[in-house]
Amino acid sequence: MKAAPFDFVRATALSDVFAAFERHGDDARIVAGGQSLMPMMNMRLAAPRVLVDINHIAELNGVSETDGTLRIGALTRHQELGVNALVAEHAPLLTMASTHIAHPAIRNRGTFGGSLSHADPAAELPACAIASDAVINAVSSSRGERSIKAVDFFLGTFHTALEPDEILVSVDIPIIGAAERVAFDELARRQGDYALVGLAAKGTIEGKTFKDLRLVFFSVADRPILATETIATLEGKDYSPDTVTVAEAALEVDLQDIDSDLHTSAATKTHLARVLVGRVLAELAGEGRQ
Ligand SMILES: Cc1cc2nc3c(=O)[nH]c(=O)nc-3n(C[C@H](O)[C@H](O)[C@H](O)COP(=O)(O)OP(=O)(O)OC[C@H]3O[C@@H](n4cnc5c(N)ncnc54)[C@H](O)[C@@H]3O)c2cc1C
Repeated sequence: MKAAPFDFVRATALSDVFAAFERHGDDARIVAGGQSLMPMMNMRLAAPRVLVDINHIAELNGVSETDGTLRIGALTRHQELGVNALVAEHAPLLTMASTHIAHPAIRNRGTFGGSLSHADPAAELPACAIASDAVINAVSSSRGERSIKAVDFFLGTFHTALEPDEILVSVDIPIIGAAERVAFDELARRQGDYALVGLAAKGTIEGKTFKDLRLVFFSVADRPILATETIATLEGKDYSPDTVTVAEAALEVDLQDIDSDLHTSAATKTHLARVLVGRVLAELAGEGRQ
């Protein structure tokens, strides 16, 4: 199937985007990498009358570090997240996750801002944003810029805290501390497929002791799940097989409302989440891949 007819606006400044929103209202839709929107249009699951191409807005590009924060422009491609030296040094969770996203052709076009705005519950980057305690910056013409904590940004399947007249412009990530570690893993049928279940993690590790963990599961519900019960259980505990068993038990609480989907039952997802938590805790503790 092919997309319904649409008009196309090439924006070269944010003001062009706002002008298109003003002129066309809900009929206008931003296109960034097009790797989610175009398939949805081709399947007639979306039919915007006007596409607003943001690829030529220079200020949406770039990765920079200031005062302990890494700022990543909305147009940063998944491929760039995987190879950028500043990202590797200061936000290595994104480097790790990027290679799990789809295939090179999609990673060459898909953008960080697009992935977060699209809010697919099975996507890697929304979970990484929450695990990294990221802040998402959005701009509208009438209200200016505002910042939204990643943990408050994802409201449901394809549903975020962005208002219809806002554009996501950048993401701020606190740079990783000396005692902090990150780990990422997912289980998929094949490399490049969306995960059946995935886990993005960050925390402070003193010796083998876990502190301030952030464990975020994806592809288990309508949005990424910060596993608060499991995190509380692990606070101040040393890594050991017994600790992993306790964490697996706590997961039952965090994942009690998870959904079955077309491919995987909730029971299987819970089992896979237990497998992932064991692997990821071992990796955080420096025990290598289990
Ligand atoms: C075959 C295939 C496999 C894939 N596998 C995976 C996978 O394993 N994991 C994964 O995470 N993703 C996967 N994807 C999706 C891919 O990563 C997309 O690139 C990404 O989800 C959306 O980014 P985009 O830049 O392409 O956004 P687009 O498709 O351009 O836009 C997506 C949505 O976000 C909105 N939007 C985009 N940018 C902004 C912005 N700056 N401000 C406000 N709204 C904006 C658009 O209006 C649209 O509603 C796959 C895609 C395909 C086609």
